[in-house]
Amino acid sequence: MHLIKHRPIEQIVGQCMLIRKLNTGDYSRETLTQALAFRGPAQRQLFALARQRREEHFPSRAVQMRSVIEISNICHQRCNFCSIGRIGQSHYVITHAEFLALADHIYNKKRRVLLIQSGENDSKTFVNHVCGCLKALTPRHRDLKIILCLGNMKTAQYRQLHAAGAAWYILKFETSNAKLYRKLKPRDTLAHRLGCIASLLRAGFEVGSGNMVGLPGQTTDDLVNDLYLLGKYKLVTQSCSVFIPGEKTKCAAAPMGDLDLTLNMMALMRIMYPDRMIPTTSSLEKARRGGQYLGLMAGANTVTVHDGTPAHFKRLFPIYSTKRITPQDDYLRSIVRKAGLKLASGAEL
Ligand code: SF4
Repeated sequence: MHLIKHRPIEQIVGQCMLIRKLNTGDYSRETLTQALAFRGPAQRQLFALARQRREEHFPSRAVQMRSVIEISNICHQRCNFCSIGRIGQSHYVITHAEFLALADHIYNKKRRVLLIQSGENDSKTFVNHVCGCLKALTPRHRDLKIILCLGNMKTAQYRQLHAAGAAWYILKFETSNAKLYRKLKPRDTLAHRLGCIASLLRAGFEVGSGNMVGLPGQTTDDLVNDLYLLGKYKLVTQSCSVFIPGEKTKCAAAPMGDLDLTLNMMALMRIMYPDRMIPTTSSLEKARRGGQYLGLMAGANTVTVHDGTPAHFKRLFPIYSTKRITPQDDYLRSIVRKAGLKLASGAEL
C-alpha cells in the first residue's frame, strides 16, 4: 500500500508565491535562495517558468549544436580540481593541417558552430598557431561560427584572435567568491579573471561566462552572488556545470556537485537573463544519466557534441578523468526531440 505524503498547504502556497515573485522580476537574495532549494512540484514550476522565458526569447525552439576540437592540452594553470597535467599524459598540439581536416569534416557534417578549446597557454607560439588555423579556416567556411575557449590571455592576444576570425569567446569565472577561486585556481585570481572578461568584451568578442555548482566550500550565498555577477556583463551565453572532482587532484576526495541544485541555477539564469544561450553540459549527464535532458527542461538551448577531437587526443584531455562522458550526435538529437525542441539549422544560429 502506498502512503500519500501530503505537504502542508502553507508550503504549497509559499512556493507558488515565490514563482510569482520570480515571474514579476523579484530577484532578491531571499527569493533566489529559496528558489535554489526547490525540489519536486516547486522545482517543476521553476523549470516551467524558465521554459516559458526561453520560448518568449527563442520562439524558433532551436537548439545550437557546438562541435568541439580540443586543439591542445598544454596548460599553464594547475587548477586543484582538474586532471589535466596530473594523469601523466603527454602534451599535444593539433597541427595546422590536421586542424583544417577536422574542421572540414565537421563542416561537411552540416555543423555550423565550432568550439575550439585548449588548456590555458598564452605563449606567443600557441596564440600564433591558433590564429594561423583561424585565418586558414574562415575563408573556407564563411558561415562557420567560431567560439574560442582558451583561458586567460593578454588584451592584445584577444584582439589578435578576434581579428583572425573568432567571434565568440567563453571564459567562465567559475565562482564569484574570490577566496574560493584562489583556493581552486592557486595561480590565478578572480580579479584577474574578471579583468580578462572585460578585455574580451573590449576586444569585440561576444562573450560567454558562468560558474560551477558544488565546489568544495561553496555556499548558497556564493551561488546567489554568481547569479548577480552574471548580470554585470553583457554576455551572449552563460553556463552552469556540476562540479566534478578530477582524478588525482587535490579535490579528488570531494563529493560531486548536486544535479538538482545545478538545474535550479540554470533555470534561474534563464529567468533572470532570458535572451542568452545556455548549454546543457555533459557534466549533468555525468552527475545522473538523463541529466542533459533535464538541463533542456530547465531552460537550456545549446548542446556540445564531442565529434571534433580524434580519440587518441581525447584521452589526453582528461578534465576530470580519462573516462569522460562525451555525448555523441544521436544521443543529443534524441534528448532535443524529447524536450520538444529542434536542432538549429545554420541560418537560425
Ligand atoms: S581547468 Fe582549464 S585552466 Fe584549469 S588546469 Fe584544467 S585545463 Fe587548465
